This record gives sequence, C-alpha cells and structure tokens, in this order.
Amino acid sequence: MKIKILTLALLFVATWVVAQNDESIQMKPEMTEIWDPEVPVITPGETPADAPSDAIVLFDGTDLGREWTNADGAEPGWLVEDGCATVAAGKGIIKTKRVFEDFQLHIEWRAPAEVKGESQGRGNSGVFLQELYEVQVLDNYNNRTYRNGQAGSLYKQYAPLVNACKEPGVWQVYDIIYTAPRFNKDGTYFTHPTVTVLHNGVLVQNNVKLRGPTEYIGIPEYFVEPHGPKGIVLQDHGNPVSYRNIWIREL
Ligand code: MG
Repeated sequence: MKIKILTLALLFVATWVVAQNDESIQMKPEMTEIWDPEVPVITPGETPADAPSDAIVLFDGTDLGREWTNADGAEPGWLVEDGCATVAAGKGIIKTKRVFEDFQLHIEWRAPAEVKGESQGRGNSGVFLQELYEVQVLDNYNNRTYRNGQAGSLYKQYAPLVNACKEPGVWQVYDIIYTAPRFNKDGTYFTHPTVTVLHNGVLVQNNVKLRGPTEYIGIPEYFVEPHGPKGIVLQDHGNPVSYRNIWIREL
C-alpha cells in the first residue's frame, strides 16, 4: 500500500515538473488579451455635464416640442425661456417621443428660488424612468420630509444614501443609470429594474433593485405588469421646477 501511494506521489510530481517545463501549456500575457472587436470610440463632452458624441440630446434649452409631448401626445405646455423648461402647473406631465430600455440619463433641475410650502409641497417634480419608476425631484434643502420620498429617492422604495441638495434657485444634476426589467412569461420580473443615481456628483442610489412601479398609495409588488421600452416622463406636481441640459445614452 505504502509503495502504491509513493508511486502515485512520484508520478504526480513528475507530471507537474513536465508541465512546468512544457512551453505549449505555459501561460503568457497575450493569452488573456482580447483585441476584437475594438471598443467603440466616442468623443466625450467638454465637461462631464456636456453630452458625449453618442448621446441623444433630449432638451438643449430651446425647442421642447422636438423630443417631448404632453400626456396626450400634443405640444408640451411647459414654459420654455432662458434656456430651460419650467413646469406650468396644471399643464400636466411631459413625455419623450422616443422610448428607451437601458440607459444613462443626464438631467439638470432647479427648484424655485422663492421658497413656498414644506415637505412634499416644496419644489416637487420627478423623473420617471420608463414612465413608471420615479426618481424624486424635491427641494430638500432645509426641508424635512419622509426619507423615502426626498430628493434622490426612488419614491417610496429607496431613500437616498445622503441628502446632497443645493439651495433652492441653484441648478442641480442627476446622472441616472438604469437597467430595464426583463419579465417571466407569467408577468413577474425575471430581473428587476435597477437604478444608480448620482446627485450633484454624489452617489445616492447604488444599483438598487426596484420592487415594482412607483405608487403613491399601495404596495409596488402588486402593480408589476410586463412592459417593453417606454419614455422618460417629467412630473407636474404643481411647483414651477425647471429643467435643462437633458441627454441620454442608450446602453
Ligand atoms: Mg415627485
């Protein structure tokens, strides 16, 4: 028995020594280098806020009607002046004509300089991803509200990691990375929608997995319905919140 074990051990050592000296199975750096296809070359914006060459510009401060409609598919009724579009209370949401699945979205917003209201009543709007999932826009500068409803929250699902709000009247930025859900045949999520949000360059949502559509009342899981590509919606919550420099990159 001892001899058998010794023989096996010797064989193993001999095989190992041969393998180490065999050029044909020696790892080399180039064996783990992948060259093709070449990574697409794009031109980044002058600053990270500027649209790169492969982005679709959804609003450049001038013609809102080129890429956006109101809820009925007609011309949006929001006020466009001074290079931004402002919610016109009662005119309703605006929605992109284009539809999207996975994307990187850059959007700049400004709560009214004149502070009116409190909690959810101050500078409220929202960016709805695929028309269903709201990243809350709210003036939370010295304005408490429920944590899962403040600026940078995935409304009523995930509070932001920190409150990175600037004072009202100052432009703020959301950079949002979104992966659309995929569905099982029975209409449940195969993979959930996931969202990462940077607020003024600060990570406030780290790849969170949404439970379902945004609901003001009720449990999101009960409202899950299969859907394909959908638009970006900006909310009219009755407060004159402004938007500018909106661009998107499909992923
Ligand atoms: Mg809102």
